Amino acid sequence: MAVDQKPPARPIHFEISDALKQRPTTTQTGLGAPDYVAPTPGAIANEDNVVFATVKDLMSWARSRSPWPLGYGLACCAIEMMAASASHHDLARFGAEVFRSSPRQADVMIVAGTVTHKMAPRLRRLYEQMPEPKWVIAMGNCASSGGEFWDSYATLQGVDTVVPVDVYVPGCPPRPEALIEGILRLREKIFRGG
Ligand code: SF4
Repeated sequence: MAVDQKPPARPIHFEISDALKQRPTTTQTGLGAPDYVAPTPGAIANEDNVVFATVKDLMSWARSRSPWPLGYGLACCAIEMMAASASHHDLARFGAEVFRSSPRQADVMIVAGTVTHKMAPRLRRLYEQMPEPKWVIAMGNCASSGGEFWDSYATLQGVDTVVPVDVYVPGCPPRPEALIEGILRLREKIFRGG
């Protein structure tokens, strides 16, 4: 065959059942695949299908896809939080890069750093100023349990003593990947209506 000739088109044998079998079984969040369940034939969306859902489920789905954090860095962990939203780790992939300066526009308080007793009432006030529903991530050992300062007279022994915590991210400091994992866990919790 001459080099400027195209080979003849080959017919593609494609069955819809093949596509169903080959569907990836991982979740969108990357937190592992659910047990494989053989898909129901005919479950592919087309113009003949109607999908039912409750408003609550739709709201939970939408909320889980854009948890806006409150920009609230207290110590060294905040540097990792900033790195998570920068280009290399790109928190925007998960809809959580819009750090708000006002608690009234935020969904998630990421407590990134050491919380002192002096700061605790301010933290609580900011939490109360966030609209419902709202969530809290304790980022790092200090925020989770006092960490390095476990016996300090000045340090709160865990931010869960002043606000309810949904996800704890361990580490000193946790890397940006760990914070992203925490946000993915939170997304799953929000998705389930938590
Ligand atoms: S956990 Fe470690 S890195 Fe984070 S604020 Fe405490 S001392 Fe700093």
